[in-house]
Amino acid sequence: MRVLMASSEVHPYSKTGGLGDMVAGLAKTLAKKGHNVGIVTPLYRGIREKHSDVRRADWHMSVQLGKRRVSGELWVQEPMPGLTLYFVGQPEFFNRQGIYSEGGSDYGDNAERFIFFSKAVVHLARYLPWQPEVIHVHDWQVGMVPLLLRQEQHASGWRSPPPVMLTIHNLAYQGTFAANAFQLTNIPWQQFNIRTAEFYGAMDCLKAGIAASDVITTVSPRYAREITTEEFGCGLDGLLRERIKVLHGVLNGVDYEEWNPAADVHLPVRYTATTLEAKELVKRELLKEIGLPVKARVPLFGTITRLAEQKGLDLLVPALDEMLAHNEMQFVVLGSGEQRYERALHHLEKKHPGKVGVRIGYNHALSHRIEAACDFYLMPSRFEPCGLNQLYSLRYGTIPVVRAVGGLDDSVIDAQENTQDATGIKFSEYSPAALAHAIRKALALYAAPQAFHQFRVNAMAADFSWDQTANRYLDLYQPKR
Ligand code: ADP
Repeated sequence: MRVLMASSEVHPYSKTGGLGDMVAGLAKTLAKKGHNVGIVTPLYRGIREKHSDVRRADWHMSVQLGKRRVSGELWVQEPMPGLTLYFVGQPEFFNRQGIYSEGGSDYGDNAERFIFFSKAVVHLARYLPWQPEVIHVHDWQVGMVPLLLRQEQHASGWRSPPPVMLTIHNLAYQGTFAANAFQLTNIPWQQFNIRTAEFYGAMDCLKAGIAASDVITTVSPRYAREITTEEFGCGLDGLLRERIKVLHGVLNGVDYEEWNPAADVHLPVRYTATTLEAKELVKRELLKEIGLPVKARVPLFGTITRLAEQKGLDLLVPALDEMLAHNEMQFVVLGSGEQRYERALHHLEKKHPGKVGVRIGYNHALSHRIEAACDFYLMPSRFEPCGLNQLYSLRYGTIPVVRAVGGLDDSVIDAQENTQDATGIKFSEYSPAALAHAIRKALALYAAPQAFHQFRVNAMAADFSWDQTANRYLDLYQPKR
């Protein structure tokens, strides 16, 4: 098939979370299977410097953005046969320090930036010579694309645009702006209503995508069910229930070429399920790197996360505070985000000297080492569309301790569900006490070497490779209209 994807993040060019990993993983797998895939993404600062084979295409692109005309450059790269990256260059919008924000605040012109980008996507969908058979857009940044495609069909003579799939990676981020931003789309004002982009008087890009796409997917089966409920629906559960016939949950895959303890270039030594002694060495080296004392038989817990409310930090900090005070255990965290959480973590570090290591920032190589070094990985999310780190943890024999929501519930097996095949520890209630209880179970497991070893072997054998996931997307790319 000929697939054109559009995403504001693509690993390894740009990434703030799981979105970039997923788009890259799916695209690569489809290309390997012999399909033709293009990905449209913004040309952010630094991409050309890091990827010297990104070259300027001889292509003129100019779109109407409200009252002004804005032109864009097109840059391309072919990292592998069958896969082409189309970078939309627009220095005013994309040559900035951040992707969405700087110094903790969102850019004031994000509506302009991403409506411009969405229009560039529609332009390419229409005019690329290879004529994509399906357009697959990801998240709110390109949520307007289906609506813009229809506009192109009705007002400027594009006879039969291809079907559009929208994948929701996180319903909590909807791209909501003041209503007058809708004029940037140049779609007639009468079409701004609750059947399209209007959400309680504001413009909501993700809502527009949900309303106008042919197929909607999200990144795990459980999250697909959850978002049709008031509790998880972020105000859009009613619309999602209306569209339930075209709403599908597909668990993300993992790029095992990148996340593989047997071949991970970021580790001091590599290991497999039969050489788990080497994992101990990785743990020792990481403790030294972080500046924590190395002691025999002390379990190490870890997490790598955006410091955001979603990730359950208001459970993590008090539960760890209690557990660290009474138990021989250590904890490392790598994260960046809200300052209130940074402060809380630093406070925990001070209060439990030698037991807690906090690294603030975004560090890809260190994230690999933490995945490999820890005995347990903590993910007490309030909600979790898919979650990638629990999947990475499984492959690294690092036992996930997760709240049973979204993709966490779909990907981890608790001993209560299946003793023989258990891969992790789950808890349900959103409370520090429930997480502390789960950590206690982890400590008990660690104290039973045989059982712990069996969990590790099970976890490392669990298979979330992209192959099956990509086949599922291929099925869904052919909607019955
Ligand atoms: P989300 O997209 O909600 O942030 P996911 O679990 O789907 O959560 O994906 C997070 C991705 O971002 C993972 O690949 C994780 O390793 C990475 N990540 C998050 N924070 C950091 C950080 N501070 N340093 C390095 N990688 C990080």
